[in-house]
Amino acid sequence: MNTNDTSIAQTSSLQSLLTAQRAAHIKDPYPSLELRTDRINRLIDMVVSNQQSMIDAVMADFENRSAMTTRTSDLMPTLDNLKYVRSNLKKWMKPEKRSSKFPLGLIGAKSKVEYVPMGVVGNISPWNFPINLALSPMADILGAGNRIMLKPSELTPETSNLMAKAIESSFDKTELTVVLGGPEVAAEFSKLKFDHLLFTGSTNVARLVAQSSASNLIPLTLELGGKNPVVISPSANLQLAAEKLMWAKTLNGGQICLCPDTIFVPESMMQAFISACKASLKKLYPGDVATDPEYTHIITQRHADRLREMTAEAKESGAQVIALHESDSSGRRVLPSLVINADSSCRISQEEVFGPLLAVESYQNLQEVVTGINEKARPLAVYYFGTDKQEIDKLTHETVSGGLVVNDLMAHILQEDLPFGGVGDSGMGSYHGFDGFKNFSHAKAVYNQSKLDPFKILRPPYGKMVEDG
Ligand code: NAD
Repeated sequence: MNTNDTSIAQTSSLQSLLTAQRAAHIKDPYPSLELRTDRINRLIDMVVSNQQSMIDAVMADFENRSAMTTRTSDLMPTLDNLKYVRSNLKKWMKPEKRSSKFPLGLIGAKSKVEYVPMGVVGNISPWNFPINLALSPMADILGAGNRIMLKPSELTPETSNLMAKAIESSFDKTELTVVLGGPEVAAEFSKLKFDHLLFTGSTNVARLVAQSSASNLIPLTLELGGKNPVVISPSANLQLAAEKLMWAKTLNGGQICLCPDTIFVPESMMQAFISACKASLKKLYPGDVATDPEYTHIITQRHADRLREMTAEAKESGAQVIALHESDSSGRRVLPSLVINADSSCRISQEEVFGPLLAVESYQNLQEVVTGINEKARPLAVYYFGTDKQEIDKLTHETVSGGLVVNDLMAHILQEDLPFGGVGDSGMGSYHGFDGFKNFSHAKAVYNQSKLDPFKILRPPYGKMVEDG
């Protein structure tokens, strides 16, 4: 078989999986509450019974990642999402009544919105939280009565293989199935005519996915990343801010879509900020960060090299680089550093960092920061540390981002009742909770007229109406 034949074989087997799922959906287009709950329960059982093997698989893929990180950032949020949907599903599946009183011609009618399943949903997921980001959205997708084809990341092969096997033993292929492979398979996968496609990953790949889904006119949800700004106000508790920043930048090695990326610090507070970051890192990692088994490694050597190149480029162009630790970083273990006032042409000022480096910029007034945020691609989150209500209102109303968080980092993702998603370059559509259920459903308008016929007067012949004026 040459490469072309392989890709034809792949395409036809992907297509046959989709055809089988679509046929099953047509047979049961509106799964009962009981069946949806049963699917969610099977996914919960699958995660619970594979917990230890999942922790081991993620550890093997990352080279180093603590069991605690996998438990708290992959397993627990997945189970929480699934349980939250399960306990609310009955309420969400109820039709929503809408008023039919106006215009008067509608008198006698009853109107409602019924949330019906889309059908087959494709789900392409990334490597950074390989279990959470593959399985959590399934709570909403299965809850909304859909079937799923999952394409997890090739950069976490142990975890993706394990999920494929575990799913195969808990689900029929027509309910939920996993397709394994790299970018070539992913590209073919995204060309399938799903009923909805969810893509979680980078903005650049999202542009390709959006082109495929546009040519098929498929509704698309994009969960992407970006450069999340953090504004440290003069009113901030610097100690608290630094501690939370060091936690966020070392959790999963800073490889998080919601990770703080560029920190705006008042010029007069810069030295205090640097000292607070150093002290906070020491508090979180009292031993040597360079040998601490709790410290997560960068996913590949290529990704680690990219971070080192970013730092070197910024340093060469005049930025101040402050290592927050005493040891040298090596291999896939990249240690936290501050990169202060890098030139705007540097990669660290332009690209999502996705690692333990903090781009830091000094500022004099908030308007300058707001203008800077608005000139860049719209971020997934804007963070603010401080207590000034006017500043909070300004950021809320004058910047556009997926979310805004005050005096915390990333915590809004855990609030099930908030929509989670980006805007512009950081994504479109959202999931979690009822917003997620709606995102993966079709909101069908249902209008039901009674025996009344109020529009009779509008039907021709119009002669008499015209005569009457
Ligand atoms: P990526 O875009 O490289 O890959 C994501 C997925 O896309 C993988 O499964 C990959 O196989 C697939 N893919 C690769 N080429 C493709 C193509 N041509 N067509 C279709 N699919 C293709 O992203 P990544 O490196 O795995 O993840 C990191 C990025 O994801 C970061 O930018 C991060 O911010 C973002 N992210 C966003 C969220 C969120 O919820 N908003 C969560 C996690 C990560």
